[in-house]
Amino acid sequence: MPRQRHQRKMLEPPHFKGYKPYGSSARGKPVVELLYEEYETLKWADYYGMNHHEACRHMGISRSTFARIYANARRKIARALVETREITTTPGDVVFEDDWYHCHDCHARFTLRQTRRKEYCPSCQSNDLESITK
Ligand SMILES: [Zn+2]
Repeated sequence: MPRQRHQRKMLEPPHFKGYKPYGSSARGKPVVELLYEEYETLKWADYYGMNHHEACRHMGISRSTFARIYANARRKIARALVETREITTTPGDVVFEDDWYHCHDCHARFTLRQTRRKEYCPSCQSNDLESITK
């Protein structure tokens, strides 16, 4: 019987699309793709300093799943640093309570709950928007 799979919860996507090394060329090297859930494990474990037991509950996943995702995240970050590669973030297999949008004109991030006029940026009214959680 297949194991029941828990959805990985996230409140909001990372505040950036990626990172580029400087002082060294990353040109021609494969980009490291960091999944949203991998970023999230680094945030809980390394930024907030939570142990895996606490951190996995924030994401609604088991401790072993958390540990596996976290290990992949650290390996990827280490590879990017050591091999001077760019990092891009990409939605992996996570669920958000709200859909998040990025405004291409002013770079604001918001959910539709935060805007009065659907399809328009709440800070500059632009309609040049991109969904960043799908
Ligand atoms: Zn805007």
